[in-house]
Amino acid sequence: MPTISVFDMFKVGIGPSSSHTLGPWRIAQRFLRETLERHPAHSIKGFRYELLGSLALTGNGHATDKALCLAMLSEDPETIEPAIVDDLLHALNASRSVHIGSARVPFDPATDIVFCKNERHPAHANAIRCTARTAAGDATQTYFSLGGGFIAREDEGTQDQPQDRPLPTHPIHHAQDLLNAHVRTNEPISQIVRQNELCWRDAETIRRESLRLWDVMRQSVRRGCRNDGILPGGLEVHRRAPALLRDIVPDIEREDIDRLVHTVRRAEPAFEDLLRCVSCFAIAVNEENAAMGRVVTAPTNGAAGVIPAVLMYRACFAPDPISDEEIERFLLTAGQIGALFKQNATISAAMGGCQAEIGVSSAMAAAGLAELRGATPAQVLMAAEIAMEHHLGMTCDPVAGLVQIPCIERNAMGAVKAIAACTIAEQSDPTQARVSLDEVIAAMWETAVEMNERYKETSLGGLAVKLNVTVGLAEC
Ligand code: SF4
Repeated sequence: MPTISVFDMFKVGIGPSSSHTLGPWRIAQRFLRETLERHPAHSIKGFRYELLGSLALTGNGHATDKALCLAMLSEDPETIEPAIVDDLLHALNASRSVHIGSARVPFDPATDIVFCKNERHPAHANAIRCTARTAAGDATQTYFSLGGGFIAREDEGTQDQPQDRPLPTHPIHHAQDLLNAHVRTNEPISQIVRQNELCWRDAETIRRESLRLWDVMRQSVRRGCRNDGILPGGLEVHRRAPALLRDIVPDIEREDIDRLVHTVRRAEPAFEDLLRCVSCFAIAVNEENAAMGRVVTAPTNGAAGVIPAVLMYRACFAPDPISDEEIERFLLTAGQIGALFKQNATISAAMGGCQAEIGVSSAMAAAGLAELRGATPAQVLMAAEIAMEHHLGMTCDPVAGLVQIPCIERNAMGAVKAIAACTIAEQSDPTQARVSLDEVIAAMWETAVEMNERYKETSLGGLAVKLNVTVGLAEC
């Protein structure tokens, strides 16, 4: 099994989708790199990207075409300034060419990106057939977007490739391995995961990376709480995060994130206000995600609001301010839970529906919160199990292929369920639990395999057809 680091599970990028935006972006970057290894830039005559399966059906609303264009413009999802995306795309549409190395190569997004909505790759729901037209003839390679920004080339299969990393101190393939490591070491889960991460990076890097992720999450909450208006894409969805919090934080448009936390902490909100705050934090992140803003993939972009909302809940509503050490422990625990789902099931909605996105993020957040609250390792895993148990079977049916309805509100629900799952688990005796985390992961995968394709990020079923809204696609 590949060794997955917690820092593979969290990625900084821009919205709206990890499998349909970030993954295709990485695929185009890799295809460009591999093409240039075989063909000099001056011999390249053009490129063509054919989107198959779910990428064809919902790629338009998920900005797959934009991601490919930005990769062709040598931009990177981690560093690009979201505010310049539209200008870059306009310029590309006008010039219909890109710089590849020292050469200028024709590239017209209108004809060189094709949505093949009647074709699905037999091995994976998210595939891109990439072709470089060169002086020596066409060079074609197919890649898969595996979910969460992970990618693979067709000849590598549909699993992540083993990383070039030493074996960790505690090899973890199943939840039971975490419990066994705890019995051996008497350490909490976050410490066991930390010992593994120390095989790959030093303590300072672990802390620095954790805080960097938290800062990107906090800033996405802050921007989402400030930004009003209508989301792009044509559905006319109004942003709601600022209104949700305005009576608790009257000056919300002007608050920076530290003052916002301070104001909420002082407000001592009632239960309904607390629910509203958590919902607002989750919705804020995913409204930013829907507007191609910067977020942390956790473990996907569609579900990027759940973990920040639960961490903000801890930051705003616990007696003490949240510490750097707690942020690290939360992310280590949550990331390991996400890795278990990735290794033994899926975090791709195109493979498993929304249970693989919101369900997994809720399980991750529940475990992270339980770890911070001093739950035992068995209770931490129980919290993750409870959170997923009540997302089993949840379908993915984004209206008009946009990551807006039902996606944005689902983040609020995932965050609230995570807090409830944690609360139940920390008051429970895990020895009496009838369902283990490993069993619920196995059940989730079986449900994913048997789920009708219409409910796996195709916009061919559920709400997506009930609302009867369509987007125009170029078909091949
Ligand atoms: S319905 Fe769920 S899985 Fe599907 S795009 Fe929306 S958030 Fe992602």
